[in-house]
Amino acid sequence: MRHDRRILQHVRAGTQRNPRFLRLGRAVEPPPALQATLREVFGDAVSEVRVIEHSWFAWWHVRAFATTRRRRIYLRGAAGAFFADPTIVLHEYFHVLHQWEPRRLSVWQYGLELFRRGYWDNRFEIEAREFADDHRHRYCALLARREAEERAPHA
Ligand SMILES: [Zn+2]
Repeated sequence: MRHDRRILQHVRAGTQRNPRFLRLGRAVEPPPALQATLREVFGDAVSEVRVIEHSWFAWWHVRAFATTRRRRIYLRGAAGAFFADPTIVLHEYFHVLHQWEPRRLSVWQYGLELFRRGYWDNRFEIEAREFADDHRHRYCALLARREAEERAPHA
């Protein structure tokens, strides 16, 4: 954990010195319809979660498409591609709000699980995959409704 914080401080310091670095770790707001849908699935705590695209921190975790911490989702790529994938969105928000937030998950615990069972079979990943599978259908339906409401002309 201490090690992670040092990396973040390093990235943040770089951001202040060199504006070019801003593009390599930018917080992106989810589109309104998606944010509203996430709130229905996870509750108000979704507004505390920051999604950071093109994150150096995520690149540090070579195997992962994204990596999570408390109230943070760090993406290797663009936020647009992330938001467009319901399974990954549910999976990563689950890590943050149902594992990190209640402190069931820590860097140490995850590392231990990873060592014992590998990536695919560790309990944190199994839980997140199951949650995404269980909620995907409802999430997609809610999102489609929200997006239709946004497009509809206001009376
Ligand atoms: Zn995961």
